[in-house]
Amino acid sequence: MSPTAADVLGAGARLAAEAARFTALGWMRGTSGNLSEVVARDPLRLAVTASGLDKGELSAADMAVVGPHGEPVDIDGITPLKPSAEAGLHARVAALTGADAVVHVHTLSAVVAGLHWPGGVRLRDLETLKGIGRRAHDDEVVIPVIANSQDMAELGDRFEAAYDPATPAVIVASHGLYTWGATLLRARHVTECVEWLLAYKIATR
Ligand SMILES: [Zn+2]
Repeated sequence: MSPTAADVLGAGARLAAEAARFTALGWMRGTSGNLSEVVARDPLRLAVTASGLDKGELSAADMAVVGPHGEPVDIDGITPLKPSAEAGLHARVAALTGADAVVHVHTLSAVVAGLHWPGGVRLRDLETLKGIGRRAHDDEVVIPVIANSQDMAELGDRFEAAYDPATPAVIVASHGLYTWGATLLRARHVTECVEWLLAYKIATR
C-alpha cells in the first residue's frame, strides 16, 4: 500500500523532533546526518530528512519519500523534496535489518573510534551494553567499522557484509554512525548508548 500524506507528515513530525534533539547534542552539525522512518513495507517506502537543510530547524514537511534504492517517490499531497544521497543506505538498512527507523549521525566519537579500531570496536562488561540489547557481562560485542564510499550501492554492500543483527550499529570510517531500531525512540536510545560506549572506549584506551 502506498503511504498517505498523513503517514508521511506523522513520520516527519517525529523525525523533525528527533533531529532537533540530535542537533542539540552536536551530532548533526551543519546539515550533516539524516534520519528515516519506514512508512510502507511492500513496496518499501521511507520518509527521510531532506537534503541540505539545517537538522535543528526541520518541520514535519521537510522530508523526502524514497523507495528501496533511495529514489524519490511522489506522494499525493506531499511537496517532493530532494533526498540525500545517503537515503539509499537508509533504505538498504531498513530492508536488511527489518528496522522501522534508521539514524545516521556524524558523531566525533564514531569517527575517532573508527580510526583507532578499523577492524571493529570491541566492548565487554559494561552495563550500558544492555541499552543496545546485549548483556552486561560475559558478552563480547563488536561494533563493525566499514570503509566510507560516496557510492551508496558499494557502501550498502559493505554494510550487508559487516553488520551483526544482534548489534544495531555500524560505524562508517571517517564519516559517522548508523544505528537502527524497531521504532524511532528505540533507535534514539541505541544511538545514545552507542555514543556513550564509544566515548568510554576512547577515554580508556
Ligand atoms: Zn553522513
